[in-house]
Amino acid sequence: MLFYLLVGKINLVIESEIFLTMHITLEFASVIVSMLVSIFCWYDYVYHQRQKMLIMAIVFCILGITDFIHTLSYLGMPNFITDNSANKASTYWIIARLVQGMGIFLAVCSRERELRLSTPTTMFALTTLVSVASLIAVAVYLPYLPSMYDPVSKAQTTLKVFSEYIVIGLYSLTIISLLNNQSTDKRDLWLVYALAIGIFGEVAFATYDHVYSSYNLLGHMFKIISFSVILKGLFDEALGQLHKTNEALETANHQLKKTDRLKDEFLANTNHELRSPLTAIIAFTELLLDKHTGSLNEMQTDYINEINDSSNDLLNRVNELRDLSRIKAGKMVLRTEKVILKEVVKNQANRIRPQFDNKNVNLKVNCLNNLLIKGDEERISQILNNLLSNALKFTPSGGEVLINARKDCASEQVEITVEDNGIGINLSEQEAVFQMFYQVDGTSSRSYGGAGIGLSLVKNLVELHGGIIKLESCSGKGSKFTFALPMYNKKGNTEVQYGT
Ligand code: ADP
Repeated sequence: MLFYLLVGKINLVIESEIFLTMHITLEFASVIVSMLVSIFCWYDYVYHQRQKMLIMAIVFCILGITDFIHTLSYLGMPNFITDNSANKASTYWIIARLVQGMGIFLAVCSRERELRLSTPTTMFALTTLVSVASLIAVAVYLPYLPSMYDPVSKAQTTLKVFSEYIVIGLYSLTIISLLNNQSTDKRDLWLVYALAIGIFGEVAFATYDHVYSSYNLLGHMFKIISFSVILKGLFDEALGQLHKTNEALETANHQLKKTDRLKDEFLANTNHELRSPLTAIIAFTELLLDKHTGSLNEMQTDYINEINDSSNDLLNRVNELRDLSRIKAGKMVLRTEKVILKEVVKNQANRIRPQFDNKNVNLKVNCLNNLLIKGDEERISQILNNLLSNALKFTPSGGEVLINARKDCASEQVEITVEDNGIGINLSEQEAVFQMFYQVDGTSSRSYGGAGIGLSLVKNLVELHGGIIKLESCSGKGSKFTFALPMYNKKGNTEVQYGT
């Protein structure tokens, strides 16, 4: 009754060509919306594992396929497997609607239960395959199935009309179930609206006589609106979730930045607090070692030398931390000038050679005379010193470390490698070793000590020079660190302030 009040009684028979064009357009639109609903439900299932959404995804996928085949079975379309007819199209139609009615009812009754399937994709693919096979079987066995449209009287059969009312019944039951659930999920509310609109569509389908009737098209329009309303509900929810996740991420990001700033401030303050007493300890031990302040016995001299060495070690680490925080704050100044690489390499090698000799590790240098770099000599020494100290630390007695430097004319850079045949680094750790405070977590390398600052500093210093550093290593066989620095190009000295 309500339907008649709303749409009036304009039950016209439309000219076949116009009807077919409109029908195909409406049905294709409906197939697209069905598939979109299926995809949205599928993603919801993948992320939240809710049984309801898996059923909805499968149902709407079957609906998309069945409605598509229904469209292909219309008179005027090329034959689909067997001869097309209004009865064939109506049969597919009613199958789709019954699947829709029962499927959505089933999904809603399954509530929000969790469903962890190990093979959801296989299940989805299987259902699709079985439904396509059944639809092909329908085409083949159509003459043996009950008729849905009578071509003689040009009207739907009673069974078809009855089935439409069953679908209306299923929609109504689903609406009642949804309203009884008192769910807070907005998608359920949209589903209620969609089903209510769907009921109008079904009434239109139950009402028409001639297949080219205006009520048939009206029903299709209601169906599209109904599906679109479901899609809107899903879309709103997905966007809402995205928005919420974004907000949570922004808050977390803000918090992380704050913590990072606090960490930098803490490091900067600690540096200052540590450097002052350390410098005093070093200065006083040096004074004590000076003969003018009085004589010390051999043991006292040894102890004071130990204190001096350890304090210098500690000061080096504190200085490295200070350098890293300066780089992070964009406050590191590079004094770029013409650097004669051979001299820097020779100085560093000579400085560290006694430690190599003590450990019986062979240090070889292979550097051409004419390699000129545009960079900060002190920082390049620092890079080399760190790489050489690591190479020494992680190479057992009897091993070998090689420094090699060569010109790479193509990139206008000088490539310097520090290669050892020590304990090496696992492939899975090779990227992480350049991170601040990262140390390979293996008993073998942990026993070497260190603070995990050196390589992070090296990487930052190389990058400040506009260069890159890479690592090739094989656990148990050794490591090769290669860094490239720009060649000197006769433009003279420049002081560069690298800010953030
Ligand atoms: P650390 O002060 O611990 O040496 P680094 O930043 O210099 O800190 O090095 C980080 C980690 O990388 C080290 O703890 C070590 O596990 C690994 N590593 C660095 N250089 C070598 C190398 N030449 N051979 C093997 N492992 C190395």
